[in-house]
Amino acid sequence: ESFNASVAAGSALNAFIVTTPEHALDAARRTDEQRAKGGKLGSMAGVPIGMKDLFATKDVQTTAATRILEGFLPPYESTVSARLWEAGAGMLGKLNLDQFAMGSSNETSCFGKVINPWRDTAAPDVDLAPGGSSGGSSAAVAAGLCPAATGTDTGGSIRQPAAFTGITGIKPTYGRCSRWGVVAFASSLDQAGPMARDTRDCAIMLGAMAGFDPKDTTSLDLPVPDWEAGLTTDLQGKRIGVPREYRMDGMDADVAKSWDDGIAWLRDAGAQIVDISLPHTKYALPAYYIIAPAEASSNLARYDGVRYGLRELPDGAGLQDMYAATRAAGFGDEVKRRIMIGTYVLSAGFYDAYYTRAQKVRTLIARDFEQAWAQCDVILTPTCPSAAFALGDKVSDPLAMYLNDVFAVPASLAGLPAMSVPAGLNRHGLPLGLQIIGKPLDEQGVLNAGLAIE
Ligand code: GLN
Repeated sequence: ESFNASVAAGSALNAFIVTTPEHALDAARRTDEQRAKGGKLGSMAGVPIGMKDLFATKDVQTTAATRILEGFLPPYESTVSARLWEAGAGMLGKLNLDQFAMGSSNETSCFGKVINPWRDTAAPDVDLAPGGSSGGSSAAVAAGLCPAATGTDTGGSIRQPAAFTGITGIKPTYGRCSRWGVVAFASSLDQAGPMARDTRDCAIMLGAMAGFDPKDTTSLDLPVPDWEAGLTTDLQGKRIGVPREYRMDGMDADVAKSWDDGIAWLRDAGAQIVDISLPHTKYALPAYYIIAPAEASSNLARYDGVRYGLRELPDGAGLQDMYAATRAAGFGDEVKRRIMIGTYVLSAGFYDAYYTRAQKVRTLIARDFEQAWAQCDVILTPTCPSAAFALGDKVSDPLAMYLNDVFAVPASLAGLPAMSVPAGLNRHGLPLGLQIIGKPLDEQGVLNAGLAIE
């Protein structure tokens, strides 16, 4: 009954693309059996979660919210979801997202927009964006439709939607979670991570998701720490870096205040606050919007109407016509925009001017962070420049949409663990998030600072 009520609420938000209650019930049954036998329960035993529909789930439709994957039933399970099932979790359904995870508002989905359950007190009738690309995940967790969900983060897609909906989400160090069976967007940036109600739930779920996988060549062959056991709010002796370049001109007053509150809370927890500089911050966004589309244009070449999903075969068409017709009909506008940008920056005449240069900037950004670690243990910034914006507000202005990722992309380019935790409401009652960025592999330091803030 409560599942049906949830589904009804979920359909109002358009968070789920498909529901799979049998999968979750089966996990619950297995947990009961295990408990009756007195066996040891997994860390996620019986927990019904939502799966971002970017993870391949065996025999359950996997769409990446794009028409070009129409009808695709994966014959295999992604490593991350397989690990979650092994830890005892079950799946309530597949969650809506921006098409191929490209977007910051969930409006590029071919299944339509997702509605943020929060309301602006000054404009309660306006539907707000849940953030993106993991907008189904953020809305579903914020509305209580599921206690936790998976997300993926290429340039902020876990952190920004978490901030927009008042929940917690962490992108681990690049390589912690296997990318095997996750529909690829930009392979050198893509990372999976948990989105949940609080830091402890994220620590538990990340523990279940992470770990070495020989099927992903960039997977880290390292043990997975017990992050839950390592949680503490005692930050005595920890140094928190506050990067001055993130305090941008004209910063939203409520965002600035929530940042100052976070600084005060961490100081109260015993930490020392240090002013730091990340001088190449302003080049991160343009570099990201060259590198991510470049990799996407290459990854998306596989959708040719032969191997997966949709095939458009006009009368009398040859192979090239079939490719063109399939890709024209199957990809949405934002995806086509990225393919065009990516192909352009990789083309012979422009490769050095754009792609090579962006890669150099990426190195400089990583170096900024390396130098910062001499002065601090974690870095605190706002997650986004604003609270949730209205659906429709930025959808016809890609640059305004991209600007929303300005605080999220530097950590992505550097492959660092980064988290968003809720940090109060703005003057219109909307949640704001703070971002904590950590050293490579220091998810624990990130989670502990998050716990001290929440
Ligand atoms: N909003 C960013 C983009 O559209 C990030 C997306 C993501 O992290 N998947 O590229």
